[in-house]
Amino acid sequence: MLADSYGRIATDLRVSLTDRCNLRCAYCMPPEGLDWLPTPTLLTDDEVVRLARIGVERLGITEIRYTGGEPLLRRGLPGIVARTAALRPRPETSLTTNGIGLARLAGPLAEAGLDRINVSLDTLRPDVFRTLAKRDRLADVQAGLVAAAGAGLAPVKVNAVLMRGVNEDEAVALLRFCLERGYQLRFIEQMPLDAQHGWRRDNMITADEILVALSAEFSLTPDDEHARGSAPAETFLVDGGPARVGVIGSVTRPFCGACDRVRLTADGQVRNCLFARTESNLRDPMRAGASDEELATIWRRAVAAKLPGHGINDPGFLQPSRPMSAIGG
Ligand code: SAM
Repeated sequence: MLADSYGRIATDLRVSLTDRCNLRCAYCMPPEGLDWLPTPTLLTDDEVVRLARIGVERLGITEIRYTGGEPLLRRGLPGIVARTAALRPRPETSLTTNGIGLARLAGPLAEAGLDRINVSLDTLRPDVFRTLAKRDRLADVQAGLVAAAGAGLAPVKVNAVLMRGVNEDEAVALLRFCLERGYQLRFIEQMPLDAQHGWRRDNMITADEILVALSAEFSLTPDDEHARGSAPAETFLVDGGPARVGVIGSVTRPFCGACDRVRLTADGQVRNCLFARTESNLRDPMRAGASDEELATIWRRAVAAKLPGHGINDPGFLQPSRPMSAIGG
């Protein structure tokens, strides 16, 4: 098992398949993009699947979520998903994507064995999408959502980040949009993980603000606290249910005590927290011929050293040197 010294067990593996993205969301990346990781440093499809297998067979991983960067940019994605879904015990396989290209890929991914999908959608206004993401792709994202639901990847979850002065007034409209289509909306508080280091605590939209905005139009009833488990989102029944909305208060309502996640970057580094300042290299030992058990041992040690919390609210907090796009959200 992947246990840390505070009694938490990591069972949920987030695998970044690329640090590249075709959007430039202001809370994540500068308009000009970043220096992408050189291709030879990236795990091959076979290396990704080998590490996933070690996680599942030896370390108790029960869920694998592919992310990035933008995972749909990874050419081998359907094959990676199919090989992951064939592992035993079969892990739940999911994907977090910006939805561009999903109209074409939703069917093949569902056929490959993908179980669940999260699509990021921060605005319903094309002009705001252009301002926020620096690309004119709102229609592609919306087509991707329709295709995901049509392919049976239900319930489709939608992730939204609100930014002050940009899309902060869209909480109600986004929820209405999702309710009408049967999507499950979750708002994520903006975290200090942007490559530009532009995040400011006093400028972020908090979970409280989001709930106040939603409560003006909907009646929100907190969901059963026990049902939350290790899920990052606090969920609320909307107008008595059964529809729900989630709020992930990573900054103002941290949930580190229940965290069951561990991350693998596209270049084969284990991170025991989004905000970790150290990583453990699995790629180089793997390429030097390490056995499955030797890799599992490095991985166990990496998780054992996990700190009790992400530390964002500590006075001495330092943002990790890798941005979100290179860690895998
Ligand atoms: N490209 C994919 C996507 O857009 O979903 C997957 C990677 S992206 C890093 C994963 C999630 O992280 C998205 O929902 C995105 O909105 C969110 N995200 C990125 N930067 C963030 C930040 N600074 N704070 C909070 N959420 C962030």
